[in-house]
Amino acid sequence: MYHGSHPGWIEVVCGVMFSGKSEELIRRVRRAIIARRQVQVFKSHLDARYAGLYSISSHDGREIEAAPVDTSAEIMRLVRPETQLVAIDEAQFLDTGIVSVATELASRGVRVVVAGTDTDFRGEPFGAMGHLMAIAETVDKLQAICVVCGDLACRNQRLIDGQPAPYNSPTIMVGGQEAYEARCRHCHQVPARDESQTALL
Ligand code: ADP
Ligand code: ZN
Repeated sequence: MYHGSHPGWIEVVCGVMFSGKSEELIRRVRRAIIARRQVQVFKSHLDARYAGLYSISSHDGREIEAAPVDTSAEIMRLVRPETQLVAIDEAQFLDTGIVSVATELASRGVRVVVAGTDTDFRGEPFGAMGHLMAIAETVDKLQAICVVCGDLACRNQRLIDGQPAPYNSPTIMVGGQEAYEARCRHCHQVPARDESQTALL
């Protein structure tokens, strides 16, 4: 855990799906609540459709709801002057403005905890996560368990009708007909660009 003598820094919690990013974000938020810090939690609205929003309750009965947002600018508008910790989940879905929003909040003295999937289904950098990792004080990269071989998993396997999704499948799929598995580098499969599908479009 980072402890600067001046308040205000950025912590990134990244990794594949199922690696425990949300659990870790919630743990940090819960401990800040115990420390009587003023906390606000945001989550990309894009994810809310699939996963539902969550609320974080503490033992002293306070409850904090993750506010759904569509853009990084919305976070900036919603942060209250007294807020000491801003937590942002599913940050890979947000626009690149999240980099300046996190920077501005940190310079104002806010502790910013950003959680997100750092690689897309292809195994390539996802949204602004790489940039956020570069400018953060701390980066914790979590791993899941590969469902094929049991090693540590660092890749998101996208499956469409049970088959590995081709490289040219969109980065963000709307509708949620796809499924994901955590897999290691060696069990991760991304078939080459599917030219037949491109021709149909
Ligand atoms: P993330 O936010 O990174 O997607 P969550 O915090 O929502 O992760 O969920 C982590 C939990 O998912 C783990 O504690 C575990 O119970 C469960 N889980 C399901 N599948 C896996 C897997 N393949 N590897 C590790 N944990 C898994
Ligand atoms: Zn594996």
